[in-house]
Amino acid sequence: MAKLFDVGLEALAGAPAATAADRPAAATVENAFSPLSSAAEFPPSNKSFYLETFGCQMNVHDSEKVAGVLLQRGYRSVEDPAHADLVLYNTCSIREKAAQKVFARLGDWKTLSAGKIIGVLGCLAQQEGEEIFERAPWVSLVCGSASYRRLPELVDELEAGGRRVMGLDLDTDETFETEITRRDNPFRAYLTIIEGCDYSCAYCVVPHTRGPERSRLSESILADVRRLADWGYTEIQLLGQTVNSYRDPSPRGLSFVDLLRAVADVQGIRRVRFTTSHPNNFHRGIVEAIDEVPALCDHIHLPVQSGSTPVLRAMRRTYSREEYLEKISWVREAKRSISMTTDIIVGFPGERDRDFEDTLSLLETVGYDGVFSFKYSPRPNTTARDMPDAVPEEEKSSRLAVLQERQRQIQIARNEKLVGSDFEVLVDGHHPARSQWAGRTSSNRIINFSTPHQNLLGQYAQVRVTRSGPNSLVGEQLP
Ligand code: SF4
Repeated sequence: MAKLFDVGLEALAGAPAATAADRPAAATVENAFSPLSSAAEFPPSNKSFYLETFGCQMNVHDSEKVAGVLLQRGYRSVEDPAHADLVLYNTCSIREKAAQKVFARLGDWKTLSAGKIIGVLGCLAQQEGEEIFERAPWVSLVCGSASYRRLPELVDELEAGGRRVMGLDLDTDETFETEITRRDNPFRAYLTIIEGCDYSCAYCVVPHTRGPERSRLSESILADVRRLADWGYTEIQLLGQTVNSYRDPSPRGLSFVDLLRAVADVQGIRRVRFTTSHPNNFHRGIVEAIDEVPALCDHIHLPVQSGSTPVLRAMRRTYSREEYLEKISWVREAKRSISMTTDIIVGFPGERDRDFEDTLSLLETVGYDGVFSFKYSPRPNTTARDMPDAVPEEEKSSRLAVLQERQRQIQIARNEKLVGSDFEVLVDGHHPARSQWAGRTSSNRIINFSTPHQNLLGQYAQVRVTRSGPNSLVGEQLP
């Protein structure tokens, strides 16, 4: 994955902000999440599991829920797969490289799988299905994300001596809810509010791997938020492949904006984020809510994918360059300064030089604070796979490099303007060697800062920016 800006990295890759050693006294795994992970909660057992996650934040959160299910069944989590009875990979197939990585991991077990259950979960499982057993016969569990609710029963079958089990249903109108979720990020709680996707972007495997859209009941979401606030979380990130097409299926019928306001209203919640928004479902009401409710973070990730209308049409993105830019103008008219990030694919089949130029000019017009940029790679079960006019690999690489450099310059210029500004950060990292702490602003910018204080992790601090770089800021804590 090409990364230009740290904002949104978590949204895509979900790396926890702090290491276990960094966790604060105020938010250790034990006390921030005691309802989930205390020894009293889970029956003692000799069985153990190792779970590795690839891909997007939805996958990361699914893994938290899968871990919760296994903990509830008496499994212990271990850090080393060699010591695990159950080795699971929660996979991503959005890009070819991600899929190759998983098969490489599976290859490690070719001669070492005796006595273990090796399982593949997530998008690659859904996409490849039984093929996985063909390519890696030592795998015994294959389960797509739309079938996670069947996971306990699949594990039962394996424990009862079953050799191979599969869960690949897609025709579900249920969402994956579990009483117990292990939460791996001590400062930000992720909450899925809608699963699946009803769009059909030409390059994307998600509708195939995650099934149609299913929104969760608002009451169940809000009950989770209240519980998370009780456990000490102050920041919530609402998740969905198209999070802003959320529609409460209960008689209350909350819209996405109603839900945002209700989550922000929960006592103890200071920050609410959401990802990923689809431009088609993005409307003024979202910007108005951010303007009116301070707890709604001033950051919007709005994937554009291309700045060229013909390419957007070929991608089946359902909006034109002009329509996208109109939505950006609503954001720019807001009273609060809202940071914008996006995703871009270069080298989609048929992308001409002038289409690419349109994408470059869009970067300048919008002035993004961060861009996740990728080279197009054809994926199975997508309509783009068989499209003519493939862009040569070298051309894709060269366009990606040009785009990343252009965006780097934009970020340098934008971040320079922030020197001298004050921000509130939620402190989520510590670099003892540099005597620095790190935190994120509401706009999801990273600031590394110095302070005379100790034990700031999990706390909010006021920081003045003293220096800037393309991907982060440097500052000092205000007295
Ligand atoms: S909106 Fe398009 S890119 Fe996003 S998940 Fe749905 S099909 Fe994939």
